[in-house]
Amino acid sequence: MRTPALTTRLQPFTSTIFAEITELARRTGAVNLGQGFPDTDGPEGMLRVAQEAIASGVNQYPPGAGEPELRAAISEHRAARYGSQYDPDSQVLVTVGATEALTATMLALVEPGDEVVLVEPYYDSYPVAVAMAGGVRRTVALKQGSEHRFELDVDALRAAVGPNTRALVLNSPHNPTGTVFTDAELAAIAEVCRDNDLIAITDEVYEHLLYNGRQHHPLATLPGMAERTLSISSVGKSFSATGWKIGWVCGPAELVAAVRAAKQFMTFVGGAPFQPAVAHALRNEIPWVEQLRADLQRKRDKLAEGLDSAGFDVLASEGTYFICADVRPLGFTDGAELCRSLPERIGLAAIPVQVFCDNPDDTRHLVRFAFCKRDEVLDEGLRRLEKLE
Ligand SMILES: *Cc1c(COP(=O)(O)O)cnc(C)c1O
Repeated sequence: MRTPALTTRLQPFTSTIFAEITELARRTGAVNLGQGFPDTDGPEGMLRVAQEAIASGVNQYPPGAGEPELRAAISEHRAARYGSQYDPDSQVLVTVGATEALTATMLALVEPGDEVVLVEPYYDSYPVAVAMAGGVRRTVALKQGSEHRFELDVDALRAAVGPNTRALVLNSPHNPTGTVFTDAELAAIAEVCRDNDLIAITDEVYEHLLYNGRQHHPLATLPGMAERTLSISSVGKSFSATGWKIGWVCGPAELVAAVRAAKQFMTFVGGAPFQPAVAHALRNEIPWVEQLRADLQRKRDKLAEGLDSAGFDVLASEGTYFICADVRPLGFTDGAELCRSLPERIGLAAIPVQVFCDNPDDTRHLVRFAFCKRDEVLDEGLRRLEKLE
């Protein structure tokens, strides 16, 4: 057999500090504030619909584009919240989580050698999806600006776009920084897309989880953007069901048909009994999500306060499950080094932000903490943080 077995295009993605820290946390019994998933269930009504669907025989392949009822619910949700109109039959596609939607989009739209612009730090699946398609990524680094907030460097974005750029990926609210892009930033991004005829791929999995009264404004709602944007979201983060892996992509019929062509030979379909449950959630459980949002905002504040007391310089989190903190006031220079030692030193796990970057220098001093955990877990984490000196 030829060695190594793994293709050169995937070799850069094999070993990650992410896996290392997760394993370290498991071995040491650390409170894990590294992993971004909730430790409580989603709305009862939603869980019940899934159980009833299994009991009543919704267990075979659903239609390739997704259950019509779910596609209708997704279309209604985008119309009610954002005023966007998507035809459920031709402009909505159900996928196996946002992850498959992103990967299928790359495979469908990116020719080998085409460039895709990513904002860094980036969600870990983006560079892999670009590589699978044979694309080349160009990254634009967020800059730590005033008020402890990460900002988009619009000039750097313009500079990253060239004649071979096909698409741009935008994640707002943004994991791992917690940044929600401002209307001015969105307008600048939209202008870059229009000027350079780019496709925008938006990752909106945190669309309901914005704090302090901030509102989510999809890039697709900006002038001239609906016809060039694929808007991606999923059930996982909004309804605390990250294991269900029901996602969706909305956009112009031609682009959605392209994504469907790739998706049908990746998984064809998935999660039949979850699809009616997600339709139920989008139609009936938004008040539940509002409560989740309020709880998460409170938990964010609690964690921020604890990190501040422990001596970190805490950055702003305007959305998502995450808050980032600067380790330098504690006498450290490298977040990865601190994250490797934290589980054994104080029994706490967190993730260094540099692992989400091509150029780790700008974020070497930052660590990401997740606050989507039960109060008991957060409180225990905070008690352990007090031991950090
Ligand atoms: C969790 C997450 C995803 C993955 O979503 P799934 O629906 O579970 O595939 C995608 N993007 C971001 C930014 C995430 O945090």
